[in-house]
Amino acid sequence: MITDFLDLGLSTELLNAVAEMGFEKPTPVQSRIIPLLLAEDNDIVCLAQTGTGKTAAFGLPALEYLDLKSDATQVLVLSPTRELCRQITQDLMSYSKYRPETKIVSVYGGANIVSQIRALKKGAQIIVATPGRLLDILKRGEADLSHVRSLILDEADEMLNMGFKEELDAILELLPAERRSLLFSATLPKEVERIARSYMKNPTVVTVGERNAGADNVEHFYYMVREEDRYAALKRIADYNPDIYAIVFCRTREETQKIADSLQKDGYDADALHGDLSQAQRDSVMSRFKRRSLHILVATDVAARGIDVNDLSHVINYNLPQEIELYTHRSGRTGRASRSGVSIAIVNQREKGKIKRIEEVIKKKFTRLPIPGAKEICERQLTHLINEIDAAEVRNDIEAFMPLINELWDGMTKDELVRKILSYEFNRFFDYYRKAKDLNIPEKEKPVSKRKGDNGKTAGPDSSRKIRKEEIGECEAGFTWIRLNLGYKNRIEPRNILNIMKALGIAKKAVGKIEIFHDHLYVAVDSSAAEYVASEIDGASYNSRRLKAEINL
Ligand code: AMP
Repeated sequence: MITDFLDLGLSTELLNAVAEMGFEKPTPVQSRIIPLLLAEDNDIVCLAQTGTGKTAAFGLPALEYLDLKSDATQVLVLSPTRELCRQITQDLMSYSKYRPETKIVSVYGGANIVSQIRALKKGAQIIVATPGRLLDILKRGEADLSHVRSLILDEADEMLNMGFKEELDAILELLPAERRSLLFSATLPKEVERIARSYMKNPTVVTVGERNAGADNVEHFYYMVREEDRYAALKRIADYNPDIYAIVFCRTREETQKIADSLQKDGYDADALHGDLSQAQRDSVMSRFKRRSLHILVATDVAARGIDVNDLSHVINYNLPQEIELYTHRSGRTGRASRSGVSIAIVNQREKGKIKRIEEVIKKKFTRLPIPGAKEICERQLTHLINEIDAAEVRNDIEAFMPLINELWDGMTKDELVRKILSYEFNRFFDYYRKAKDLNIPEKEKPVSKRKGDNGKTAGPDSSRKIRKEEIGECEAGFTWIRLNLGYKNRIEPRNILNIMKALGIAKKAVGKIEIFHDHLYVAVDSSAAEYVASEIDGASYNSRRLKAEINL
């Protein structure tokens, strides 16, 4: 395997740019893919996790072969989210720093289509696009793909999960047959295989790292708590890790906002990232997170896709995702670019089975950790504070104030001073943890079950879902029920639901049975899209009604 960029066969301008970006040696995916792309011309399916250096793996050869004398679009990169589009575009621009005539344009939803079309008109040798927006532009006749020689499908599984199947088919049909295709995916579900079969020519399959396996350098832990202690456990985890720099994953937009609001109220540098925010709000949250003025980003899976932050200390599953594949994606956000990472799940007593199922898929074991208690947390925080004080630079500027300081603290002993300073910083923790209970569940305690009509506060979400299952029964295999707070009383009909799904990019085929009741309904959605659909609908409004969507187990 090639271990030096110089041996990959790339030209000096690209190598210099890569060196300036601080890349010292190629990552495994780069060592495998770059020589294949430069030497041969067959199609490639590459199974690689996110964060493994895929962008340079496809980007450097694409730039190498670009005909800079022509303005025609020669390379098309399709990616699932606007964040990822922007990230890829930025990376490609950095790699082509010493080829300033390179023209790269990104087009994605949620931004002004007119200015994107204007940018395309100026020439786009490489287009980086989300499928939905590109198709809109193609329908208006504002992009020409007839000269594309290289197609890159990045995170193909995510694009299909997000319901872009029809858009992908439509775009791929339009591309010239004489082209090279490269498909990246973390997993290989049937739909991705279908795309490879239908639109690629005898692709070489390259697996980097074990298929479906979690990244090697990520450790997996879980904390088990009673359902009502989930938030308190999150706070303990944050307090126990004073240097925390984490993404906390929630299942719905509503939950994401609620947790971020609670964390802010409790004094943490936290904020929310989800689809209800405007593009400007999302950009602002992301830029604060990247600058580290935010330490905790609470996000939905959809919003967090494409986030390029390498040095997260933790990924925290506030709730485990419905789809196990999503867990792989979440945990792949940590342990990137050869760093070690920690993925944490907070689970209730009923969710132990889910941990087992995830272990089978990622082929790694979780370690159960006890929830840290008041004493351990206060010790960690104190040590951190003292280390920070120790590391502080003492500048000459302070000398001018020393007479005043000595006067104000006249007669104070060192011991008293230390106590006062540490208490000043620390009383918030002492106050909170003085009353803090042990959140660990005694071995003997059985999970609380909720009976029909029982109003017990402690039942978890799983138990309430069970009741609904009795109401609705099973749906088609491969489909998942989503419950919506719309019913006959809102004059809802099945075609309205199909329209909502269409607006989300979900094909008719991916929508199963629809059962409408007086004030709520159930719609069966292809399981691979259920999480996406529920999180997009939840919190959105329909005829001035705020929607609530829940996935039914
Ligand atoms: P990607 O999978 O392309 O999103 O890359 C993940 C992160 O790894 C990005 O922040 C890249 O800048 C970084 N990266 C990619 N290749 C290398 C390399 N050879 N050495 C160091 N960092 C890299």
